[in-house]
Amino acid sequence: MFEFYLEQSFRYYIFVLERTFQNIYNLKKELMKNPENKVAVVTGGNSGIGYATAQKLKSEGATVIITGRSAEKVEQASKELAVRGIVADVSQVSAIEHLVSQVKELYGQIDILFVNAGIFAPAPVGQISEEMFDQQMGINFKGAVFTIEKFLPILKDGASIINLSSVNAYTGMANTAIYAASKAALNSFTRTAATELAPRKIRVNAVNPGPVATPIFGKTGMPEEQLNGFAQAMQNRVPLKRFGEPTEIAKLVAFLASDDAAFITGGEYNIDGGININPGIM
Ligand code: NAD
Repeated sequence: MFEFYLEQSFRYYIFVLERTFQNIYNLKKELMKNPENKVAVVTGGNSGIGYATAQKLKSEGATVIITGRSAEKVEQASKELAVRGIVADVSQVSAIEHLVSQVKELYGQIDILFVNAGIFAPAPVGQISEEMFDQQMGINFKGAVFTIEKFLPILKDGASIINLSSVNAYTGMANTAIYAASKAALNSFTRTAATELAPRKIRVNAVNPGPVATPIFGKTGMPEEQLNGFAQAMQNRVPLKRFGEPTEIAKLVAFLASDDAAFITGGEYNIDGGININPGIM
């Protein structure tokens, strides 16, 4: 009889122990899924889509680091968002290396890399200057490639890289030849990187927004009248008849960064009010 009780108690303790381990395992899984324990770097996080995404990731509990080119703007945005801001010009590989060494010293490794910094410099074919080509390719493509290259050693296995591209990668919109080419190159890079980084369970995806209401257009140097005409023409082409909001792009990026997107890699996601499927007769 005593032996029977001993055996029953033993079985019960094993059961309790198993349940406890299972609960700890589930809790750990849940915590890892939660951005609370994640470190995210957002390049070009002081403005527009980067700013909104930094805000979204922070609101979900991630530790966020934003970067940008202008010291003043990075400082102001980092104060507003209550996140760390680091100045780094992504067109300079040495600046990216310095950024990575600072992030490594402060946080060790990171979980989310949002490669967002970019510029838009429209010009028609026939008026493409070498300077404009180098600047746009240097930031939008070379800058993105070397951001990933240099961050790779401190990316955790299972990390998520999101490259901010554009639907322009697939359109023939006038005046965007080099901008579009820089984004098409980025999407191509995304696919190869996704294949090569899969053994480390690092996911690499691209987001292709249509027109989004951010300061990017004001930085093109276009006169206000031309800018308004451009915005109106663009809006007319969007089936949903409006520009996107930075917060809408931020939600998609935050999803791709999360473990809910654990089976998504090498993909491209249009978020464009339908502009990419508009045949142009609306
Ligand atoms: P934005 O001008 O508001 O933000 C651009 C950010 O990139 C800024 O923080 C800026 O400091 C940073 N940046 C620019 N050059 C840099 C450099 N050399 N080094 C470091 N940082 C630099 O514009 P946005 O619209 O938020 O643009 C973000 C990304 O979205 C860009 O890659 C852009 O091409 C892409 N995009 C924008 C739209 C749109 O309609 N706004 C559409 C499709 C894609």
